[in-house]
Amino acid sequence: MITPGKAFVVCGPTAVGKGTVLKEVLARDPHLWYSVSATTRSPRPGEVDGVHYFFVSQAKFDELVAQNGMLEWAVVHKVHRYGTPRKPVEDAMAQGYNVILELDLDGARQVREAMPDARQIFIAPPSWDELQERLRGRGTEDEEEQQRRLTTARTELAAQDEFDDVVINDTVANATTALLNIIHSSTVE
Ligand code: 5GP
Repeated sequence: MITPGKAFVVCGPTAVGKGTVLKEVLARDPHLWYSVSATTRSPRPGEVDGVHYFFVSQAKFDELVAQNGMLEWAVVHKVHRYGTPRKPVEDAMAQGYNVILELDLDGARQVREAMPDARQIFIAPPSWDELQERLRGRGTEDEEEQQRRLTTARTELAAQDEFDDVVINDTVANATTALLNIIHSSTVE
């Protein structure tokens, strides 16, 4: 009998470094499985379809929603749709993997209703100034998009008390250790 895995929602504002921390966390724990989301946004340079996201058309996204194929989905930063394909998550958990769902605030709230056992983790920046600097330094969004993301970030930061845990991403090493500790402490029998 395989013990089913547990789900972990990871949420945090734009440019907080979720991607970098999660990459480290996943490299260190072979029992973790990362849920690849579907999105209607275009790939950034270097992003690979099926690895970073499933880049889908509006019509394909509509189809997945209509077939109840999304565990949750949301319009993020008021522009593009992002969602979690349901079946791969359920399959991975049934196979005993602990699943990481990287979601926006709206998605995290939906999963809180749909999967109350999922542990909800918020990744926070050391300060607001640092977050702005990281976003500007990344240089992947134009000024308008940066402003839109910072507006969303304010709302997200204000909601961090809703989460089971808050991890401050001051350094990648510290945040990785903190996240792995949370995952391991909630999955020991
Ligand atoms: P980005 O465009 O920078 O890759 O992601 C923007 C935001 O979308 C991030 O905050 C990320 O957490 C969120 N996001 C990514 N995948 C999903 C998903 O499947 N569902 C929801 N609700 N949000 C997602």
